[in-house]
Amino acid sequence: MTPDDTLTLAHARQLLRQALLDDARRAGALCVFSGAGMSAESGIPTFRDAQTGLWRRFRPEDLASVEGYRRNPADAWDWYEERRQGVLRATPNAGHQALGEFARRHPGVLHVVTQNVDDLHQRAGNTDTLRLHGDILRHQWLQACPREPACEVATAQQGHPPHCTQCGNQLRPGVVWFGEMLPEGAMEQALQWVSASAITLVVGTSGAVWPAAGLARHARRAGAWVLIINPQATELDDEADGLIRSTAAAVLPRLLTGF
Ligand code: NAD
Repeated sequence: MTPDDTLTLAHARQLLRQALLDDARRAGALCVFSGAGMSAESGIPTFRDAQTGLWRRFRPEDLASVEGYRRNPADAWDWYEERRQGVLRATPNAGHQALGEFARRHPGVLHVVTQNVDDLHQRAGNTDTLRLHGDILRHQWLQACPREPACEVATAQQGHPPHCTQCGNQLRPGVVWFGEMLPEGAMEQALQWVSASAITLVVGTSGAVWPAAGLARHARRAGAWVLIINPQATELDDEADGLIRSTAAAVLPRLLTGF
């Protein structure tokens, strides 16, 4: 970290100390809005990284849209299967652990909103993390099942992708694709959390995916002090009160331990 980063970190710790001492503002005082960079040090590639190697011939919209999936379901299924295996092998990094430990020490103070579809925040102890973009470990039908009662996802016949022997439906990952709605109520809850926070940390996101990216601006307009933690410039830098150009696993333990 640069000397400027160290000063910003000290200021953030001071604000957090004040928030923890203020009984009226303590609940929900800290909000974390995370993206793929949060899990990079656990070995899970960011979206851009995941386009390398074997998979670089795919464009994001080939893999992350209903139309792309319908065009080439076998390859898209295999791509997600490889990512699912990567998530299952990964473990929470020092950044996730620092957030989980902070939540255990200060119940009710921290809310986590993530764009990540892995479960590393949850495994580190932030079990009520709000996932804006779904869950890669869950499966759902590609189309609404026409039968009554609906066919069970668990009974799908193995394949690329697995399919239903009753209605022919295919499985797809339980993530939010381009052009799809976020889970019902998720954005409203996230807006409420960032608005109520004294400090919002924006960790490991490029800020390119909307409407999630709007949370940083919303937090600041509602009066939160917004700190971006990212080794690279992001599309949200102008929305921040502070920037630390370093990684999640390097910064979060230094920011959150000792309280
Ligand atoms: P992104 O790939 O657009 O950007 C990743 C950001 O993380 C970049 O700004 C990069 O500089 C930063 N970064 C890289 N390493 C970092 C580190 N160690 N510490 C802190 N920051 C680091 O990711 P995004 O903004 O989350 O948006 C892409 C979409 O892809 C999201 O909707 C998300 O659902 C999805 N995605 C999720 C995962 C996951 O669940 N782990 C992985 C890849 C993509």
